[in-house]
Formats: sequence, structure tokens, C-alpha cells
Amino acid sequence: MLTRVKSKLKTFVGGIHPADDGKSLTRDRKEVTPLLPKTVYLFMSQHIGAPAKPMVKKGDIVKKGQLIGELQGFISANVHASVSGKVVDVIPWPHPVTGMKSPAVIIERTEDDTWAEGTDIVSDIDSISPEEIKQRIQWAGIVGLGGATFPTHVKLTPPKDKTIDTIVMNGAECEPFLTCDYRLMMDKPHEIIQGLRLVMKCLGCRKAHIGIEENKEDVYRLFKDIVSNDPNIRIDLLEVKYPQGAEHQLIKALLNREFKPTQLPLEVGAIVVNVGTAFAVYEAVKFKKPLIQRIITVTGNGVERPQNFLVRLGTPVKLLLEAAQVTPDVNKIIFGGPMMGISQASIDAAVTVKGTGGILVQRDAHQWESHACIRCGRCVDSCPYGLNPSELSIVCEAKEFNLALENNIMECKECGCCSYICPAKRPIVHLIKFAKAEIAKQRVKT
Ligand code: SF4
Ligand code: SF4
Repeated sequence: MLTRVKSKLKTFVGGIHPADDGKSLTRDRKEVTPLLPKTVYLFMSQHIGAPAKPMVKKGDIVKKGQLIGELQGFISANVHASVSGKVVDVIPWPHPVTGMKSPAVIIERTEDDTWAEGTDIVSDIDSISPEEIKQRIQWAGIVGLGGATFPTHVKLTPPKDKTIDTIVMNGAECEPFLTCDYRLMMDKPHEIIQGLRLVMKCLGCRKAHIGIEENKEDVYRLFKDIVSNDPNIRIDLLEVKYPQGAEHQLIKALLNREFKPTQLPLEVGAIVVNVGTAFAVYEAVKFKKPLIQRIITVTGNGVERPQNFLVRLGTPVKLLLEAAQVTPDVNKIIFGGPMMGISQASIDAAVTVKGTGGILVQRDAHQWESHACIRCGRCVDSCPYGLNPSELSIVCEAKEFNLALENNIMECKECGCCSYICPAKRPIVHLIKFAKAEIAKQRVKT
């Protein structure tokens, strides 16, 4: 059986195969431990686009699920209270993604954990209209939970001249060490498929295609059973390769459609949703529950009890580390996985946001010494977007930003494959990010 399935594995050109994907640390722990923090710190910006506008002030009493930040403009997302309690401040707080201070509503929790009025209402999802589905998704503040954090209601509003014929659901979870999506897929498969069907209905799209990496064959069989009578939803196993879950690679592998790195999937008639997003859609449409919590993997050799937690948004990271029994000799903490995660300078003020799928805690993280490029070409072979990372790193290091633009630096998705594979340990992605920031600064000035 396995041989038959293996022969059908779909994939893309380039990418890497990490020697140890680290998933075994948490994969077989079935429990998802809920955490209730005493205080939450809710950023008005937990998404791509304009920050939400605070709707509460210091001293206000709020209930779980209450709207506390209203979206501003077309690309933006609502924010809701993740606990009931008292607003103790609305101030700028260090953001774990940007590293800059950003407006946040701080709520001290009270014992009452009931939902705000108007939330937690069961709906008949079979009779709900496409427009109402989108309205509920927008109201619930749902964003891409695979890490991109693009507002989902905007994704579900394609330009009138674009036709979407296929929804692609990402169940790859290709980032090493993370198992939050795996756990959700094992525990809530029916709800995820319902969420996918709601997205299809919202867009009037008849076909969906689900991609699951081969290291999650149990999920594949579970999902296959659920959609066995539905000819419009297809599921395929994917080769275990990073970044298999990225939009370009997933669409190439499943639909054999290609588009430029700077283009969106809708250029080839597709929209990609992550399984976590599909679950959030189901919760919002079926129960009118806003996005106030998610599963987060806390893992790595810096914690005694790596596991998945069900975490309210805005929870201090210290609480997660204590619950996972952090060791005293930790020297690196990363928000996300090792490939695309963001290393934290300090965890004193760090809190979880909508896009936080994992926290990787390391106690023996290497400080690699970097050497000159030996022109081995491995980075070129690994780049899934056909770039020349070696050349890019050299021109970025020399601050030759025009040459970086000529070498298509803006097409780099910062996936990290080139840095991972480089035998000279060149900080290629770091140099590219630096150059992009400098180019952005220059563009603002001119
Ligand atoms: S980080 Fe950029 S240059 Fe490096 S492999 Fe990924 S897309 Fe290519
Ligand atoms: S992998 Fe490293 S050493 Fe090899 S060509 Fe790329 S940058 Fe140079």
C-alpha cells in the first residue's frame, strides 16, 4: 500500500530535506493543553495591512469574544478580547514579529470566561449565504494561520476579472519541528473539511484540492475517508520537502500551475487556505466565534516537556515556556520554526499573536562562523524560486542594491533554503533581508 502511495507523491523543483525535522518531539503527544493567562496583550496589528483601531479604553470591562479593535480600510482585520476582564491599559508594546513597539490592549482576566453577547450562537450553515459567510469571516478577524496572516475575507474577495476554479488547502506543515497543524488535522478533521466547504461556497468554487505531506499519512487516510463520496474534493500526498506548503510550490505540485514569485495564486485561478484557517472559518460561521485562540507547538531541546498548547491570543510567552518546563541553559528562542521563524532578542515582553504556530526553544544553538562563497552552487539548486542566492548575498553584502534589484531580490520569499544548504555558512537570508530593508528606506526617501 505504502509503495503505491509513494509512487504518486507530488512535489516541486528545488527545496531542501532537513536531516531531522524535529516533529517526533511533539507529534505523538495527543493532549493539547489549554492555558489561561492572568493578563493578555492584544496587538491591533496581528495581520498584513492596516492596524485595527482600538475600540476600548483603560478601565473598560470586556467579555471574551468582544470586538476591541476594528479593522481600518480594505486590507485589515478585527481584533477581539481573548479573555473576559478589565482593560488595564492601551499602550505601545514590543511586537514579536517586527521587534518595534505597536499599540496593544492589555486585559487583566477575571474568573468569568463566558462569551460576549452575540457570540457563540449555533447557525444552520447549510442555509447560510456566500455573502454572510464572508461577513462572518471578516467580523471574526480571521487571517491566514499558516503564518502569512493575510486577512481571509480580503483573500475571498478576488478582483472581478479573476476566476477562481480551485481552492487549495494546505495540510503540508513543512516547517520542521511544528506539529500544531498535524494535531488540529487529527483532532478536528470534519470541522476542517466543513470550513473548506464554506470557503468553496463563499467563492462559488466547485473544486478543492488538499495537499498533505507523506509524513502525515494518518491524516491523509482520515481526510480521504471523510471526502470519499465527494468527487469535488481531491487529496494528494506530497513529498516531504521544505517549503512544500508555500503557495507557489503547493500549487505547482497539486495543480501543475506556475506563476511568477511576485504574483498571487489567483493569477492561475487558485486560492490557498491553511487547515488552521479552514477550522477558524468553521468556528466563525457555525458558532459565530471570533478568532481568539489557536494551537501553538512549544518544542526544541530547551524544554523538558515539548507539546502543543491551546493558547489565547496575547498570552505571555513566559507562561508557555514555564508550562513546557524550560531548561535554564537556553540560548535561543524562535517564534515559528527554524526555517522561517523570527529569533527573539528578549522574551520578557513577548506574547503570542495570530500568526504564532510555534515557539522553538534551543539550548545549544550554534553561532556559525561564516566563510567566503566557494561557488559550489548548492544554494542555486535549492532556491525554489530560481534565484541565484550566492550572487544576491555577495551584492547585498557589498551594499550594491541596484545589482540586488537586477538579481530579482524582490522575488526572494526568505524561505531560508539557501542559508540552510550553504557549506560556507553564509548568512544569505540575513543579507537579503538587510538589503530589502535598505531598498525600502531609499524608496521612502525618493
Ligand atoms: S531565501 Fe530567497 S534566495 Fe534563498 S532559497 Fe529562499 S527564495 Fe531563494
Ligand atoms: S551554497 Fe554557499 S558557498 Fe555554495 S555557492 Fe551558495 S553561497 Fe556560495
